[in-house]
Amino acid sequence: MCGNMGFYCFRRLKARLRQAESAVRGAAARAGSGFRKPGGGKRAARARTERKPACSSGFRTTALQAALTVMVFCGVLGYGLSGREAVPAAGTNGEVQLPVLMYHSLLKDQAQQGQYVLSPDVFRQDMEYLKENGYETVVVADLLAYVRDGTPLPEHPVMVTFDDGCYNNYLYAYPVLQELGMRAVVSVIGAQTKLFTENGQENAYWSYLTLDHLKELSGSGVFEVQNHSWDLHTLGERRGCLRKRGEEETSYREFFTSDTRRVQDYLADAGLPAPTCYTYPFGACSWEPAEVVRELGFQCTLGCEEGVNTVTRDPECLFNLKRWNRPSGPSTQAIMNQIGI
Ligand SMILES: [Zn+2]
Repeated sequence: MCGNMGFYCFRRLKARLRQAESAVRGAAARAGSGFRKPGGGKRAARARTERKPACSSGFRTTALQAALTVMVFCGVLGYGLSGREAVPAAGTNGEVQLPVLMYHSLLKDQAQQGQYVLSPDVFRQDMEYLKENGYETVVVADLLAYVRDGTPLPEHPVMVTFDDGCYNNYLYAYPVLQELGMRAVVSVIGAQTKLFTENGQENAYWSYLTLDHLKELSGSGVFEVQNHSWDLHTLGERRGCLRKRGEEETSYREFFTSDTRRVQDYLADAGLPAPTCYTYPFGACSWEPAEVVRELGFQCTLGCEEGVNTVTRDPECLFNLKRWNRPSGPSTQAIMNQIGI
């Protein structure tokens, strides 16, 4: 699955983190190496066995990262608890509950279906369920308009997101969304967009959306195109867009800035709207990429922690939005009940 990283991206925690990092470096050095990220458990074990870890976490972390995870989590928890006392009851401060669904690939082939591959028929059932239950889809532009200008959101908003930009989204999701009058966000991996734009392959199993697909999807108003990195969708040493161990901070920032800008420029050169949202590869986030994407002007980020979001007029609320991965297996009713829809 794509989440439960335990890393949260709040600028206001940055200073605390920096202090924590130096403290933990000392502690980690004293304790030696070898402990793993908390919360590995069954979920992480399951993620590691998935065939196509499109957005899986389940990676090992260093002692330093593990300790930071705990400290960041505690920091956020502390902030959340202390903040709650001052926040008026839901609905009194422009608060809107926003569930966000996360899809990846759609394939009819049952043998391929799993954590990140869903039947197109089930996707249609999900969308019909949302519609029948009074939910209306929003995209990031709608959230920004609400936060910035107070442009009203639907009474029951929901955001449907597709990660990676698989060609089968065009093949199967686009017609369904069009027919039902719904919208979705697709976060593309720039290098894959370029590769398939150049080779022209259109295969439901392995192809990715080309610039022509994106122009059509975006131009139709059905899909909003967002940034899922140029080429950081790998679980190597770096783990998505995170800084590598031992990597100098300045060079990391230059590297990540360059990778992120490349997508923005590539899409803009093709006449597509500039993405306003950065979708972290594998949901892997820390304060470093969070700070860079803010500096680059992104106003929203998508993570992979599960949960429903509370959208307010505070621009901070659009960073690291929680999402529910939609695996194959559970019925539409079961998954929507889990989410609280
Ligand atoms: Zn992804």
